[in-house]
Amino acid sequence: MSKVMLVTGASRGIGAQIALLAARQGWSVGVNYHRSADAALELVREIGADGGRAVALAANVSRPEEVERMFAELDQAFGRVGALINNAGVLASFRLADAAPGQLEEVFRANVFSAYYCAREAIRRMSTRHGGPGGAILNMSSVASRLGGLGGGTAYAGSKGAIDSLTLALAKEVGGEGIRVNALRPGLIETEIHSVHGGLDQMRALARQSVPLGRSGTAQEVAEVALWAVSEGASYVHGTCIDVAGGR
Ligand code: NDP
Repeated sequence: MSKVMLVTGASRGIGAQIALLAARQGWSVGVNYHRSADAALELVREIGADGGRAVALAANVSRPEEVERMFAELDQAFGRVGALINNAGVLASFRLADAAPGQLEEVFRANVFSAYYCAREAIRRMSTRHGGPGGAILNMSSVASRLGGLGGGTAYAGSKGAIDSLTLALAKEVGGEGIRVNALRPGLIETEIHSVHGGLDQMRALARQSVPLGRSGTAQEVAEVALWAVSEGASYVHGTCIDVAGGR
């Protein structure tokens, strides 16, 4: 497996921590971003200053043509991808009955179709059936897929349920082609995504009440598991969704 990793949505939050840790562990990293160009470029600079290798890749991963261009740019920069982390995602909170035109589609494009588009491009490069050396795909789900999310989460929870199912089905499809496929299901993790639900203070209060470990988690705690899941140390871990949720 090549030591080239693509992390989608790596400009901040969990994706940025995965990119940082991956570079420290010797991966050459594609740092995908959509809107946060400054943050992505700063992360690439930080990785370089730390002795690592990274390239910033602009793409709205909801759009298949941008995904294809992003993979071609990664091919040019570092060669064939060995690990794909489908991390990009958006949190949304609205009553289904109040959904604005296009709002449902936007969530599913960002959280579900993005993962399909990126996995498709990765498989074309990794699969032994396509002449590749194998690889690993890790999808970022959420405990919302089994808990139904916080209030107003029908679209978000449903999109993460689709990610769980994609993980299981894709594991069957490409397991015999040298590609391991898994998902992580983070719980309440301290990132900017929670501005949708009243911000970090409110999320921490909820974590104190509802998480058996009694606290929210950090992006670094998710990144540690992500790096393990695509490593050789997890060589027999396949087609599974791993909770990183403090027992919630
Ligand atoms: P953040 O809001 O902190 O970061 C989201 C990232 O996704 C940003 O880098 C953003 O890029 C990127 N992104 C969003 N849409 C697109 C798109 N269309 N194309 C490319 N990039 C995109 O979120 P988190 O780090 O918290 O979440 C990361 C993943 O983890 C998500 O899939 C989320 O659902 C999941 N998760 C998070 C939990 C949490 O508590 N934080 C819990 C469970 C799951 P940019 O800013 O450049 O636009």
